[in-house]
Amino acid sequence: MVELFAEPGRPARKPCARCGHPTRVDRMVHGFGEDCALKLGLIVAVPRLHAGEQTGTDLLDLLAAEPDDCCDGWDR
Ligand SMILES: [Zn+2]
Repeated sequence: MVELFAEPGRPARKPCARCGHPTRVDRMVHGFGEDCALKLGLIVAVPRLHAGEQTGTDLLDLLAAEPDDCCDGWDR
């Protein structure tokens, strides 16, 4: 049995209010997935700023590399 909303270490997901794509609730913006929120102008794309002398992969890169939690309801 698979528990979609209670995986350890994986935040719960809800469908995006715009496209219905399951989106991690901790990344939602006003009920929309991050990508839809961007396209709706609710948020603006923030350039990746590397503070200090950090090198290599940071947490944002790790999050962005996760392929199945992006909100891709625009044209797919
Ligand atoms: Zn969406």
